Amino acid sequence: MAAADMHGIPIWLTVGHGWPLAALTGFACLLAGLGLAQVLLRRRGEARAERAHNLLLDTALNNMSQGLCMFDAAARLVVCNRRYLDMYGLSADVVKPGCLLRDLLRHRIDLGNFSGDPDRYSADLQQAIARGQTTKTMVESRDGRLVAVVNQPMQGGGWVATHEDITELRRAEMERDRNRTFLDTLFEHMPITVTVKDARDGRYILVNRAAEALFGVPREQMLGKRIHDVYPKAEADFFTARDREIMQAPDRLVVTEHAVNTPHGTHILMSKKLAIRGENGEPQYLLGLSEDITERKRAEERIDYLAHHDPLTDLPNRAAFNGQLSFARERALAADGMFAVLCLDIDRFKEVNDVFGHSAGDAVLRDVAKKLAGAADGAFLARLGADEFAFISSEGAQPAAAAALAQRVQSAFAAELDVEGYRRRAELSIGIAIFPTDGADSAALLANAGAALDRAKEEGRGAIHFFAATMDLELRERRALQQDLQSAIARNELALHYQPQARVDGEIVGFEALARWQHPTRGMVSPGIFIPLAEESGLIVPISEWILRTVCREAASWPRNLQIAVNLSPVQFRHGDLAGLVHMVLLETGLSPDRLELEVTEGVLIDDFSRAVSILRRLKSLGVRIAMDDFGTAYSSLSYLQSFPFDKIKIDQAFISNVERNRQSAAIARAVIALARVLNLPVLAEGVETKEQLAFLAREGCDEVQGYLIGRPRPIAEYSSLLTRRTRTRKKPTTIADETPLTRAGRR
Ligand code: C2E
Ligand code: MG
Ligand code: MG
Repeated sequence: MAAADMHGIPIWLTVGHGWPLAALTGFACLLAGLGLAQVLLRRRGEARAERAHNLLLDTALNNMSQGLCMFDAAARLVVCNRRYLDMYGLSADVVKPGCLLRDLLRHRIDLGNFSGDPDRYSADLQQAIARGQTTKTMVESRDGRLVAVVNQPMQGGGWVATHEDITELRRAEMERDRNRTFLDTLFEHMPITVTVKDARDGRYILVNRAAEALFGVPREQMLGKRIHDVYPKAEADFFTARDREIMQAPDRLVVTEHAVNTPHGTHILMSKKLAIRGENGEPQYLLGLSEDITERKRAEERIDYLAHHDPLTDLPNRAAFNGQLSFARERALAADGMFAVLCLDIDRFKEVNDVFGHSAGDAVLRDVAKKLAGAADGAFLARLGADEFAFISSEGAQPAAAAALAQRVQSAFAAELDVEGYRRRAELSIGIAIFPTDGADSAALLANAGAALDRAKEEGRGAIHFFAATMDLELRERRALQQDLQSAIARNELALHYQPQARVDGEIVGFEALARWQHPTRGMVSPGIFIPLAEESGLIVPISEWILRTVCREAASWPRNLQIAVNLSPVQFRHGDLAGLVHMVLLETGLSPDRLELEVTEGVLIDDFSRAVSILRRLKSLGVRIAMDDFGTAYSSLSYLQSFPFDKIKIDQAFISNVERNRQSAAIARAVIALARVLNLPVLAEGVETKEQLAFLAREGCDEVQGYLIGRPRPIAEYSSLLTRRTRTRKKPTTIADETPLTRAGRR
């Protein structure tokens, strides 16, 4: 650098004004020395400041989050920061001031983070900069990072480039966009209606698709409007009232269930309202969520209805009846009043089902239900079971009101019903119990009305019976008897009587075993009483097993190969392995199967027809015979005779006892005998008591007889002579009663 430039004062200006040269020279030297020192001092200060400034700049540059580099107009690097080098993993030996942009790019290509043509890029950029353009580009590095590059022209040529890694930022933006799209989709497709209103003016801000669909108003017509501008007044008033409620207690969630009228009819909504507060704590938005619960409500109502109604007749069912009974009782207790329970049963309903089929049975039940409902006159009517109906009569003075209701019901059934084209009279038995006299609680009242019904049925068809205290006593007696029956076998109280069976010519062919119960205090209890008790409690199963084993053992011991008939209960067909039991007992006792006859009634076939038939077939395959007992008393369905190859028909004694007096009975007996003949089935007539009856049966071609005329049921010891007698010669049937010793023995 030149001295003048350096010092700033030309030296020659200070020489030549009378001072001795040496002094002048010395002074000049002093001055020069002083000036120089001054200059040097200033220079040093400036350099220090510059260094400090540079340091500051360096620190700022190297601590920037962006990569920065500056190029001059010739595209030479002036400066770059450390972040720039780090971002691309550049070498400071290559990337240093003076380095050309295109060389820098080549270096980046080598490192794999630039993919363009360096010369082209550099030239294009320089042109853009020369035009004063700022360029912005997005560069994606090989490792998937995104860098935003901005080249900003500088005055006097050259430019500053900033490189910003925006990978995270972009990722966050994308995530935010995805979330937003997701929320929008969710909001749009939510099955519940969502609306958002501005809390200050009540105008709609957001409305989803479900809300549009439910209210039938396009959202363009809703957004920016108030509720009264959009909905009918009634709905609008309702919603506005809820909004007001929410505004008064903004932290509360208001939940309501309400009906609204929509273009698609009335809908039931479950609505939730919530106020959302702004930063100032004031409610800013009103959020409304409504779920359309119409279908659910209808389903619930339907389920509730089905739970309390009988689907066939549409009448209330037993559950509903029990509820109503408790209600009637509470009401009567509170008012110190009375009410009546009437139990009804269609007489011989099973016969309809059996003969005409189940659809006819269903039609009869529907018809009966309709007739009963017509006679109810305010009384509560329910169907309790198959053909069991019941009324609760709470209006009017009792027992008169109950009696009047029963009479109304009976007269409603005076006309015949039409069953599959046949005219039939359906008769109803009715049992009545009054609260509180006939039962203090619901269960007792219902049980006693049931007991009265049983009594009504015993009295004959179409009877009405009020519960009486004596019936309660009978019920308790029955229960006591049932209790005693449990130990009857163990206490050896059961016995067997044997009743002879003969051909019409008088020849004894076998016996029917009939059970007897010798009760320790009550004396002889008839099987007509204890067998149903045993069936009710299930005790019939062990009792029958005992009977079968005892009878077979007894018969196996007889010298003559007489046949032996044993009665079976329908209950045995439902429980246990009946065929297995018979097989086992035959093996145990050594009785020849062809000597054993098992008597069944039609009741066996009614409960579960196919199961019963399959058991009967298994029994028959053992080699035993099956007789149809009491034919004519139950349903006497010919289809039963067809469905199983019975070995014998036993005509019930009810017909035989009347053959002489009643033309109908005689006709029935005659028809059954003729039928059996066609089917090639032997017929036995039960309850033959007179010679006339025997003569009638002989005339009609009946094969066998049983009854007091031949012999009463007795302990086998009393018939011991018959067991050893040899087969006698045939006699004329009419003389059988007079001449055979067996009848004399039996008619004691
Ligand atoms: P059932 O099988 O029809 O038996 C015939 C019934 O008629 C017997 O009544 C018998 O004593 C009665 N009897 C016989 N001949 C005459 C007569 O000439 N005139 C009259 N009026 N009656 C006569 P019992 O012994 O009282 O039995 C009644 C019913 O009890 C039986 O009817 C049968 O259904 C049932 N039973 C009896 N013993 C048993 C048994 O061991 N097991 C099962 N499951 N039931 C039985
Ligand atoms: Mg029998
Ligand atoms: Mg019988």
